[in-house]
Amino acid sequence: MYVKRTLPATFRGRVLSWYRSSGRDLPWRRTQDPYRVLVSEVMLQQTQVARVLPAYARFLKRFPTLGALARASLGDVLREWSGLGYNRRARDLQLSARRSSRGLPADIAGLDALPGVGPYTASAVACFAHGHATPFADTNIRRVLGRAVLGRSATEREAVELDRRLGSRREPARWHHALMDIGATICVARRPRCGQCPLSSVCAYTGVDDVVRRRQPPFATSDRRVRGAILRALGHSRRGGVTMRALRRAVIDTRVPRLVRSLAAEGLVEVSERGVRLPAR
Ligand code: SF4
Repeated sequence: MYVKRTLPATFRGRVLSWYRSSGRDLPWRRTQDPYRVLVSEVMLQQTQVARVLPAYARFLKRFPTLGALARASLGDVLREWSGLGYNRRARDLQLSARRSSRGLPADIAGLDALPGVGPYTASAVACFAHGHATPFADTNIRRVLGRAVLGRSATEREAVELDRRLGSRREPARWHHALMDIGATICVARRPRCGQCPLSSVCAYTGVDDVVRRRQPPFATSDRRVRGAILRALGHSRRGGVTMRALRRAVIDTRVPRLVRSLAAEGLVEVSERGVRLPAR
């Protein structure tokens, strides 16, 4: 991958200076508490910023520390997660808290070993909470770095390599926040606003993105919707849970029994002779 020798300094300077004047002020950027940073990164994995903002505030009010999250019942954690979807994230976040009685690991390998935390989230937490200058790339970073240098969206591997070559070692958190913001507000997937972009004069974008975006099959999306409805219905029920019959009345869908079984296999609900409920422990 060819990167002009003069490009990194120009590129970095423009990105960082744009961030100083135009970056987004988000609550998880005002803290370096590893727990709070991890909560934000896990929530942001598959949910948009606008939906994460109220959920993040609510979640941290209820579980202000790693210890508070570890001590809560999974049912209460799932109730606070309501509206964010992908509930396995909540279960894994709590498992991480329960396995980290001495605090979260500070190194990438330790973070990566936590349930539900992959290389991207581990690197992001190490960077934002501990200032590690490590390369990583989410969808926005892939788009910005890829378009600007390669003329098209980059694969994750390409973007991480570009990030390694171009990124700021002195201000790694600001650098990554800036790229995320440019990707979210200017270098958007459709019709990028190149006229407002700090990289317009060095950008190689050709107008064609040749990295095909993988769409989830509609069936998976719709299973997810019904799973969410089941958990919401259980969240509103009394602690003892509800009978399967009542649950099928609340969530009118033939897939309820099958999806209850899969939720139970993942530890997200408890099934007994009396019915179904959110985990009490
Ligand atoms: S100039 Fe346009 S295509 Fe290039 S990085 Fe900026 S917004 Fe994206």
